[in-house]
Amino acid sequence: MFSLGDLYKQVIIDHTKSPRNFGKLEPCNHDAEGYNPLCGDQLHVYLQINDSDIIEGITFEGQGCSISTASASLMTEGLKGKSIANFEILFEAFHKMATADLSDQPNQDVLGKLAVLAGVKEFPSRIKCATLCWHTVKSAIQDADKTARTE
Ligand code: ZN
Repeated sequence: MFSLGDLYKQVIIDHTKSPRNFGKLEPCNHDAEGYNPLCGDQLHVYLQINDSDIIEGITFEGQGCSISTASASLMTEGLKGKSIANFEILFEAFHKMATADLSDQPNQDVLGKLAVLAGVKEFPSRIKCATLCWHTVKSAIQDADKTARTE
């Protein structure tokens, strides 16, 4: 179904089958729920952010399609140990990658492994599956007490 390169496909299948950082986080001082009504993806992210604004721990739980699960798994790997300022940069880069023209190359220097999700922009209905976890972390950091929604 997806015409991603084989390597990309493998990474996504791997993270879907065995998601990293899956489960509740202890201790945890920020969390939020995310919901993508378009696909039915539901996520709950947990963060432990220290006094220096470093994300010391990040996990997620939930049920969703393979893209939303793989994206959340890759995101937790990418954000662990990063600062809030770093998160903002990654959020921007990821969002740009997922919504940019097909001809635009993702900023691999910033995104690293997260660039494997660049292929989703060929499938507009799946873009929100990939970006849901990022919006959810953003609302967790901002301590918004409403559910992050892609719609
Ligand atoms: Zn989905």
